[in-house]
Amino acid sequence: MVVSLELRRSCPKHMEYGPCGGVEFDGTCEVAEFRCVFLETPTVPWHGIAPNPESPAGLAGADVHHLADAHEFPVEAQPGAAAMRALMATRPIVVADFPGRSVDRASLTECAQALAGRVDATLAGDSGRSRVQFSPSYRAELVQQQDLAVWTGLNCRDRNRVALEGELAGLAGVGVAGVHCVTGDHTATGNRHDALPVFDLDSTQLAALARQAGHLVSVAEAPLTPPVDRRAARLREKVLAGADVCFVNHAGGVEPVRRFIAESHELGVAPGFIPCVPMVIDAGSAALLKSFTTLVLPDGFLDGILHAAHPFTAALDAITRLCEEFLAVPGVAGVNLSGGPAAGAEAAFADAMGAVADRLGLR
Ligand code: SF4
Repeated sequence: MVVSLELRRSCPKHMEYGPCGGVEFDGTCEVAEFRCVFLETPTVPWHGIAPNPESPAGLAGADVHHLADAHEFPVEAQPGAAAMRALMATRPIVVADFPGRSVDRASLTECAQALAGRVDATLAGDSGRSRVQFSPSYRAELVQQQDLAVWTGLNCRDRNRVALEGELAGLAGVGVAGVHCVTGDHTATGNRHDALPVFDLDSTQLAALARQAGHLVSVAEAPLTPPVDRRAARLREKVLAGADVCFVNHAGGVEPVRRFIAESHELGVAPGFIPCVPMVIDAGSAALLKSFTTLVLPDGFLDGILHAAHPFTAALDAITRLCEEFLAVPGVAGVNLSGGPAAGAEAAFADAMGAVADRLGLR
């Protein structure tokens, strides 16, 4: 089943393997005031990467490019991927969102040093308030110079497939621990409304290209985002495309994640699941977390921190406890400390993430 050109054109992200993770809880598109066009269509099965229908090859009716079938990925894992794969075979991991200021080498170095030796990798991706970042390969190289493994977030909004293939090659050269493949927020959100969105590929197609380039591949899925009853099915197709790991968006606590993992297992897929754990230490980081799309937090989580007599201590206690609850769920391969700092508090935030990892004592 190939998605019709009409359907792709009516999706602001031109997705083949929709819907994206930004569907509002009432089914509205994240970008415009209409219902997400993928909600009434069956889950699109993995069928390879088609030429962009608007490209010369697409307009000429060229065939779908069939990459390797599931579990027949011909390229050997690059060393960073192999090392992370080996580590994940022995114990759960701790991943921390990278809190450094964008295009700021000093901040990047300071934050990397605060995390090195404490977390297993840092997830360095996109930020709605700072869309311009160092190029992914360059940023990964700078961070890894501080002995901190990088799990690069790569989106389809800012680069076409040719540029993405170049980045994947660069990231393989750098030897990143993983590549997190997302379709990405539309430019209608975030701080660069002046930019044109690309969306030549989507997350499922990018996952396939990343796997072909020798990477350990992760994707995101949001269990509470419509269509809730088909989120696990969509994950299944991403796994068939090449995903090894699923970062589970903030879904309100342990039980929704446990259910989502069980549904995925019932469909015959068992990637490593890494739930997002809300990383909040003060009012500034709470405000930033609230800007995340389709965010659901455990009841009372934020209030319990922000209204505590000692919010910082309460935060570390609550975050560590939630991590431990996730790590006890069968199928969970690690936790992702997910959030961002108040402006100016980047290094302190990195240190707090390191403190949570220290408390977990997995290393
Ligand atoms: S919610 Fe996402 S997938 Fe659905 S129509 Fe909008 S951009 Fe496309």
